[in-house]
Amino acid sequence: MKFVEITEFTQQATAFLDANLERKEAAKKFVWGEGSDTMSMFEEKSREAEREMVHSAKAWRRQKFDAGFGWITGAEEFGGAGLTAAHEKAYAGVEANYKVPNQSIFTIGLGMVAPTILAHGSPAAKERFLRAMWRADVVGCQLFSEPGAGSDLASLQAKAVRDGDEWVITGQKVWTSGAHYSDIGEIICRSDPSLPKHKGLTAFLVDMNAPGVEIRPLRQMTGGASFNEVFFNEVRVPDWYRLGEENSGWGVALTTLMNERAAIGTGSGGGETSMMTRITAMVRHFELENDLLVREMVANLYINYRVANLNNKRAIDKMKAGQTPGPEMSISKMALVNNQKLLNDFLCHVLGAKLQADTGEWGTFAWHQLILGAPGLRIAGGSDEVMRNIVGERVLGLQKDVGIDSKSAFSDLKIGTQKG
Ligand SMILES: Cc1cc2nc3c(=O)[nH]c(=O)nc-3n(C[C@H](O)[C@H](O)[C@H](O)COP(=O)(O)OP(=O)(O)OC[C@H]3O[C@@H](n4cnc5c(N)ncnc54)[C@H](O)[C@@H]3O)c2cc1C
Repeated sequence: MKFVEITEFTQQATAFLDANLERKEAAKKFVWGEGSDTMSMFEEKSREAEREMVHSAKAWRRQKFDAGFGWITGAEEFGGAGLTAAHEKAYAGVEANYKVPNQSIFTIGLGMVAPTILAHGSPAAKERFLRAMWRADVVGCQLFSEPGAGSDLASLQAKAVRDGDEWVITGQKVWTSGAHYSDIGEIICRSDPSLPKHKGLTAFLVDMNAPGVEIRPLRQMTGGASFNEVFFNEVRVPDWYRLGEENSGWGVALTTLMNERAAIGTGSGGGETSMMTRITAMVRHFELENDLLVREMVANLYINYRVANLNNKRAIDKMKAGQTPGPEMSISKMALVNNQKLLNDFLCHVLGAKLQADTGEWGTFAWHQLILGAPGLRIAGGSDEVMRNIVGERVLGLQKDVGIDSKSAFSDLKIGTQKG
């Protein structure tokens, strides 16, 4: 690891950011009725607006990478700066003061796919993709879920058949976030149907522009189309795109999923101050300060935001100390979902019918997009029930879930056959 003194590094980062981005104005006091009232869970952009967002996101990441701040903790052999987590934290602290173009298109590629390539990719794949992904030359997506395989991911059916130095992939994936602006995807396929379901899987990278890949958008109830169905019709990938050993795709998928939970869970902290400001402003605006139920709801929200935030900090510190994210990330994800539910209950109680019909009143109907996006949060990255199973089994030491594959799972229930 290189030695660069943190103070000197921070000065270099400040000089770079000053030269290339505008500083954020001092946070203006939030005033009810002023500025934008848009609140949403997912990007709800038109394709044209999204293209512009992708363009500026990539341009900024390239500039940052070329200046040595794009992959601060990455190994130098793969294009990283070879510095420490403390340098990364210092840079993030400085960058937070500037108007950085939206970087959400990199969440899956850099948060989940790149760490999986680092852990399981062939030397050629590491060489080809890591630097390119951190420099925004290649954007990645996650091709795991299928119409018949979500929580029970190991049931997936997309097949990969070896043909010399290549593999031929055929099948369908679904709910693929950002497939339409991605260059590569991490796909898990069934490579040996004769093996037990967790054992016959192999993971690959796949070129999203290869012949035989068809991407169809899915429109969600909020209006946007952030997800896709992706069809693979005899798509060829070279063997060096394989991640991990043949038929060892389950372990590769777990690496990605651990990183996914870390990315989603740790995203749940930090925003609570601005959210509480909006909430308390709404309470004052509707003169509900003395409504006992509203007071209880707001206090409950505040406590839960704070607890989630502290739990996230603990998990992030653990990761910074080099430990692998574990079941605590499931707790973070559950806290995120729980807090969103508390917020939705509060909004429905206070705004009522104003959430259903747009009267043009500032700060009322606009919340409907956030509320309609909330069910997606309960499912993405592992559903509530699956998270509770993980926490029950791995944290509380409860009996293991009978599971869908257990022959005895339903034999005692006699569902639909009970008489009297
Ligand atoms: C916003 C969003 C983004 C997504 N992005 C991607 C992406 O980029 N790439 C990708 O591959 N996938 C993505 N997904 C898909 C996601 O991973 C799946 O939706 C998820 O794994 C659940 O699978 P499913 O939809 O098939 O539901 P199912 O697995 O069929 O579950 C249906 C219901 O059964 C419950 N259930 C299932 N098993 C159990 C159990 N053992 N015990 C108790 N209850 C159980 C679930 O909790 C749920 O309520 C995304 C989903 C969302 C909502």
